[in-house]
Amino acid sequence: AAITALALSGCAGGREEAPEAGGDGGFAADSLIGVALPDKTSENWVLAGGLFEDGLKEAGFEYDVQYAGASNAVKDQQDQISAMVTNGAKVIIIGAKDGGQLGTQVQAAKDSGAIVIAYDRLIVDTENVDYYVAFDNFKVGELQGEALLEGLAAKFPDKKTYNIELFSGSSDDSNAPVFFDGAMKVLQPKIDDGTLVVVSGQTDIKQTATAGWKPENAQSRAETLLQGSYSGKDLDGVLSPNDTLARAIITAVKSDGRDVPVVTGQDSEVESVKSIMAGEQYSTINKDTRLLVAQAIEMAQTLQKGEEIATNSDEYNNGVKVVPAFLLDPVIVTKENAADAYKNDPKLSPLTK
Ligand code: BGC
Repeated sequence: AAITALALSGCAGGREEAPEAGGDGGFAADSLIGVALPDKTSENWVLAGGLFEDGLKEAGFEYDVQYAGASNAVKDQQDQISAMVTNGAKVIIIGAKDGGQLGTQVQAAKDSGAIVIAYDRLIVDTENVDYYVAFDNFKVGELQGEALLEGLAAKFPDKKTYNIELFSGSSDDSNAPVFFDGAMKVLQPKIDDGTLVVVSGQTDIKQTATAGWKPENAQSRAETLLQGSYSGKDLDGVLSPNDTLARAIITAVKSDGRDVPVVTGQDSEVESVKSIMAGEQYSTINKDTRLLVAQAIEMAQTLQKGEEIATNSDEYNNGVKVVPAFLLDPVIVTKENAADAYKNDPKLSPLTK
């Protein structure tokens, strides 16, 4: 069954050709490729900008890589995409600030003959998105849920039940429910059978959301939870959807004078990899930005030649249609496998020595 970014229930492989290439048989090799990225809420986004510039240049394209500004990001990104359309971009690669608010802009892109590729975050509620390239984000959530269970069992061998809290991402990011649903697929049965106790009772994505993916919001929610629900109780574990928030949660727990619980993460940010090696944050996810950017650029090159794009998933429905997707495999990383996981990453591998 097809699933949506809002309610995803699994991802399957099976290599297939996309039904329509979305193009009309190629375009000039030095055409403009537009890349619209959201604000810099985590290291992956910061890295992606430079990698896109270098890679598109190397591929011989003209390029325009833009970030939405922090203050009026949705409007900013809408304007940036409109400008790319006006300037004749042949492919527009979009990491959406708010995946539900780009309908008008991708319609204009489509009308101009441009091909739209959703990058990392699905663009929802429109038929005018041609492809999706991302790490399998539902799997990211499942890996986070599994890591939390494993970390709890390893850290507290004598406990039979564990007190935990749940955090999710920003509600304007179509990935946030995907991560959360993936994690809850693993955690919900353990909540139901009493192994996991969410002491605050906050298990709904609305209650657990972190507006704007801002660490200060996660930190203050963690402080509030500790003060409101944990007097005389231990907090054993926290589901955190990414590294930036994981570190904010750890800060809150420490400033409350407590031991650091088992905390998950995502993105393999430098400070979190250091924290994992130091025995604080428990896990992260490696979604190597270099691979994802390279895949997106390869798609642009394939379209330029007028060839068909290879996709490997038809499991991401954006509410209007199944968007042919090329998904990469995320990798769970703990202290145990960090050296191996980052062995080909010159920035992270020295941290694991
Ligand atoms: C990305 C994550 C990132 C988050 C916040 C998500 O859409 O997939 O890797 O941590 O945005 O920037």
